[in-house]
Amino acid sequence: MSLVTDAKNGKITEEMKTVAAFEGLEPEFIRRGIAAGRVVIPTSPYRDVQLCGLGEGLTTKVNASIGSSSDISSVDMEIEKAQAAEAAGADTLMELGTGGDFLEIRKRVIDSVSLSVGSVPLYQAFIEAANKHGSIVDMTADDLFKATADQAKLGTNFMAIHTGINNIVLDRLKKHGRYGGLCSRGGAFMTAWMLHNEMENPLYSEFDYLCEILKEHDVVLSTGNGMRAGAIHDATDRAQIQELIINSECAQLAHDKYDLQVIVEGPGHVPLDEVEMNVKLMKAMSNHKPFYMLGPLVTDISPGRDHIVTAIGASVAAAAGCDFLCYVTPAEHLALPNKADVIEGVKTSKIAAHIGDMVRLGKRDEDLAMARARGSLNWEEMYKHALDPEYARSIRDSRAPEDEDACTMCGNFCALKIVNENYDLLK
Ligand code: SF4
Repeated sequence: MSLVTDAKNGKITEEMKTVAAFEGLEPEFIRRGIAAGRVVIPTSPYRDVQLCGLGEGLTTKVNASIGSSSDISSVDMEIEKAQAAEAAGADTLMELGTGGDFLEIRKRVIDSVSLSVGSVPLYQAFIEAANKHGSIVDMTADDLFKATADQAKLGTNFMAIHTGINNIVLDRLKKHGRYGGLCSRGGAFMTAWMLHNEMENPLYSEFDYLCEILKEHDVVLSTGNGMRAGAIHDATDRAQIQELIINSECAQLAHDKYDLQVIVEGPGHVPLDEVEMNVKLMKAMSNHKPFYMLGPLVTDISPGRDHIVTAIGASVAAAAGCDFLCYVTPAEHLALPNKADVIEGVKTSKIAAHIGDMVRLGKRDEDLAMARARGSLNWEEMYKHALDPEYARSIRDSRAPEDEDACTMCGNFCALKIVNENYDLLK
């Protein structure tokens, strides 16, 4: 019995109660959200996970993606990154390894964390085809479906699946062209396969079979965004929108006919003035399914600081209604992220999630508590309300003031102290 079936039947499950308690909401709110397809809670019959609700009315969540590459592949490094992401506050993890013994690495990574873990089974199917036959274009539909089931049995509980790339999308892509090509590995693999074999995407043409597999293993379908732009100048183009239409149709079918929990994924590189429109369009098209945004990166010209570029876009996206943010690390577009990059990426995206929640959920209590702590120069209280207390403390301690009330920014001329000593301003 899936959570959607229970919710549609009016049953409130333990998972719904747990998420409701975390969010400070009524369990009935969560049940209604799941029944309507507006909320999901990834679970797995193969392992216990830390439950995390995603969707409308819930706090914005952050995903950290990790995984080996063909150049750098170490199981210890990936486990270290996964655990660092969890410790830094990631709400979910995606294991996207494509290098070395990636099956073994994925298994060990999943076993090393308590978070919900996502994957992209298509990567495995294409890489195994390349290893076996010499080329990714020799993959078969069965390879795709087998990889999906195999990964579910490892305890993967949500999967990005590129259902929305069909022949119509491919035509739009070819006709319109792109300045920055395709940045999605899934999109690149699948379009190359479709063009070479002159065949429809099996994840679209055999979507019902795919849904049956996902239902059997209780996996949340996250409709992949293979057409997301990798350049600002390609944002919101016809191929991206066409894929969104197909993904929205597939998402509805999966929820209505198969009682699957579904997330819809979105772009990508998007200029700031198009971010809110992308969120609203995605929500409207998909009947308000939980929206998972990969970025968004709002400029192309800051490699090395793309985590900051993303936090700017993600703040606007979350404020506009995006439910789930995929972090970006400082290594984006440059190298495989290391542990430090992962931590920085998570912590930066958590700021964006909070800024979004301040707007869409009115969550400003911590900001008010911080204001009061600052006004009264209560440093311990300030750390208590900081998103990253240890980091804040380390900066102050590294340049400790003579007068411990103030800080070394203004020293004896601390504005807050002058006011506090001369009159009573604080509310
Ligand atoms: S010294 Fe300046 S920066 Fe530091 S707490 Fe006082 S007013 Fe703020």
